Parts: sequence; structure tokens; C-alpha cells
Amino acid sequence: MRIEIGDYGARARQVIREDPQVREAVTGATLAFDAKRRRSYDEIDSDAWRRWAEAVKSHALTHLDRYLAEAEARLIENGAVVHWAADAGEARQIVMELAAENGVRRVVKGKSMVTEEIDLNPALEGAGIEIFETDLGEYILQLLDEPPSHILGPAIHRTLEQVRELFAERLETPPDGNPDTLARAARKVLRDAFLSAEMGITGGNFLVAETGTVALIENEGNIRLTTSLPRIHVAIVGIEKLLPRMSDLAGFLQLTSRAATGQPIGCFVSLIQGPAARPGDDGPKEVHVVLVDNGRTDVLAHEHAWEALRCVRCGACLNVCPVYRQTGGHAYGWVYSGPIGSVLDPGLLGLREAMPLPFASSLCGACFDACPVRIPIPELLLEWRREAQEEGLTPWRERAALTTLAQMATRPGLYRLAGRIGSRLGGSALGRALPMLGDWARERALPKPSERSFRELWREGIE
Ligand code: SF4
Repeated sequence: MRIEIGDYGARARQVIREDPQVREAVTGATLAFDAKRRRSYDEIDSDAWRRWAEAVKSHALTHLDRYLAEAEARLIENGAVVHWAADAGEARQIVMELAAENGVRRVVKGKSMVTEEIDLNPALEGAGIEIFETDLGEYILQLLDEPPSHILGPAIHRTLEQVRELFAERLETPPDGNPDTLARAARKVLRDAFLSAEMGITGGNFLVAETGTVALIENEGNIRLTTSLPRIHVAIVGIEKLLPRMSDLAGFLQLTSRAATGQPIGCFVSLIQGPAARPGDDGPKEVHVVLVDNGRTDVLAHEHAWEALRCVRCGACLNVCPVYRQTGGHAYGWVYSGPIGSVLDPGLLGLREAMPLPFASSLCGACFDACPVRIPIPELLLEWRREAQEEGLTPWRERAALTTLAQMATRPGLYRLAGRIGSRLGGSALGRALPMLGDWARERALPKPSERSFRELWREGIE
């Protein structure tokens, strides 16, 4: 997926003004997801679960070298082949070589954010390989030639009516087809693909070091088919997905599902440890696990940002975010959007590349309350903002405003004078006089300042 973050503001404005259906569809879907998440959290002692999950993931991340070595050893014992990819290019290369060595012409894929991150599909298509996205939402987006706009519900920005039109045109379904009819039409295409593909590609929700197990959660059954029908299964997994023990996985499967969809656990959980044991057994003949760094060790080395690597990609922070709800994910310009994107993208891509995402937040804190692994997203946003300010990456008007404010705040005479001028100018005139307020004031009426300053009132003893 191309990186186009810089124009975030322009894209967000365009979606809000020109495509109100997106806001309607995203708001409706995220509110529904979030209501289910809240009910599901209420059924358990969610604070205790979240603290436990935070501790397990933080332990795994701060002992990553040990657990990665353990996971690799167990996977090899299980008969899987382990590959290491330092960056997106290496990850693509590994998959391309596997496909070329095995004469692969057709691939079925499960939903995977890391494959979006490494831009895998265009590379495979460029080599003449046919790809079928098998998650229904991803399949819709593949027909539309669009990237996902949500970690969990990739097509939530599309309405039922739009999907009806698309399927009527591409799959010849009735123009008033109900969701069952549409799903049946997609299933027919995808079943043929499952039976004829030589390679299945998935991500991995978790990788258990103790047993060398790639765990995948889903609701549609497509991942189960992707990992078991084709001759070769390739799991592409970020190195931060490690869990130390199998007993940890039991808790994470439940907590992740509750945070994502409000379910006590996903409908299907696949635990992949290696290829089919004997000829005639179900399962692939080869299992390859590609462990992807692609900037993660840099994030791990960052004093604050490393906490974002606890993310289990549940999407709960997107669902609760009042900013994300206005635009959906495309405005953010890269694969990880919403609150987690705003703190993870600067770490993975570099702060300059990810500007202005750390500022795409109201800092309301709802994302932290929803997050199953207690990533302190509002604090990380502030940290990235501080770094952006120090590195001169913020707009000059904003830097000038803060410098002026600092001058005034440390000079009482200047502060009094500015207060008097401000109160004489009034709301809209103040907005025009202070260009640094321009963006803020464009969509809002500035409050009219009090005619008398707090200091004056205080001096006169008037409450
Ligand atoms: S940051 Fe937390 S809430 Fe957001 S996707 Fe990651 S785990 Fe889920």
C-alpha cells in the first residue's frame, strides 16, 4: 500500500465534505462494534484482564530476542521453514521466490495487515500470479481496487447498497440481493479458488514461542481453508506478535475477540504448527513462517513508542475514536489508521514521513480505555508531538504561536497587554489577527473574549 500520509488534512476534509456516505457508514459500524465491546468487557473483570495482557506483552517485547529464538527452534522442530525479513523488500522477495520455486500461479489470502504493510499483492500480481482475497470484506475491496480502511472491518466505509451495485455488476447477483445472496455469490467464486490455489498466505494473530504455534482468529472460515487446502501455507508474521507460553494464548484469544467484536472468542481459531504429518493427512505439505521486522526493532528501541508494539490489531481504538469515525481509514494514508496508526506509523516509517498523524486526535483518551493491552495512546501522541515540535516538523505558524505564548507567559506585563488587546478585538477579529488560529477557526466560531480580564476582575474582587 502506497504511503501518502502528508495530505491527511486535505483527504479528511474531502471525505467529510464530498462523501458523507463514508462518515455515515463508518460511524454506524464503529458504534455497533464499540457497543458490543463494552457489553463484553462488562461481562468480565476487564481491568484485571487488560493489566494481565499488558504485562505479558511487555514481558515478551522486553525479552524479544530470547522468545524469537525459542519460537524459531520450535517451528523448525515442528517441520516449518522459518524465514527472516529485515524489511518489506526482503519479505516480498521471500514470498516471490517461494512462489517461483513451486510454480505457483494462484494464491488465496486471508486478511492480513502485514501483507498490506509490505505491499505484497502488487509484487505477486506483477509476476503474473492470480490472487484471491478470501475475507469477504477484503474480497469486496479487491473488486473495488481499494485498500482496507479498518483493521478488522476492511470495507466498513462501504454501504450495503454500494456492495449490491458492485456485486450485481461483477458477479451478476440481483440488484436487490440480500446479504446472504451476496455472500453466497462470493463464496462460489472463492470455493473454486481454494480448490485450485497452490499457495495460501495469511498473517498471524499470535506466535507462541513455547510451542512454535501460529494462532489465527476469524469468523468466516476462510482462513481455515486458506491454511489447509493449498499445498503451501505461508504465514507472514510481525516479530512483535510473540507470546511466551501456550497458556498466555488462551487468555489473548478471548480478550482480543472481546475487544474486537464483543465475542467471547472468534468463531474459528486455527493453531498452525507445521505441515501435514503423514501423506494423506489433511493440511499443507509445506509451512513457511516469514518473521518480519520492517522497522519494529527501531520502534522497540524508542524510549516511549515501544509500547505501541503491544498492539493485537483488534480495532477497538478505531471504533471508539471520534476523529476516525468522521473519515474512516483511507484519509490516514497508510495501512495502520486511527489512534494506533497515529502512534505506530511514526515509529515504523519515521516521524517526518508520518506527519501530521500524531496531531489527528482530540486526545480524549477513549482509545486507552478501550485498548485490551493498555497502550497509552494519548501519552504517545503527546510524545510524538513534542518530538515533532523539537525537530521543526510542525507548521511555522504553530511554532510561532507557541514561542509567542512562552514569551508572554513569562512576562506579566506583556501578558496583560496581550489580554487587553484580545478582549478589544473580539472573536472573529481575533481569528483574523492571529493567523496561527486560522485552521482551528475555519470550521468554528471563536468564543468572544470577556471584555474584562480575569486579572482585572480579581483585582476588583468581583466574582
Ligand atoms: S492499539 Fe489497542 S485498541 Fe487499538 S488496535 Fe491495537 S490493541 Fe486494539
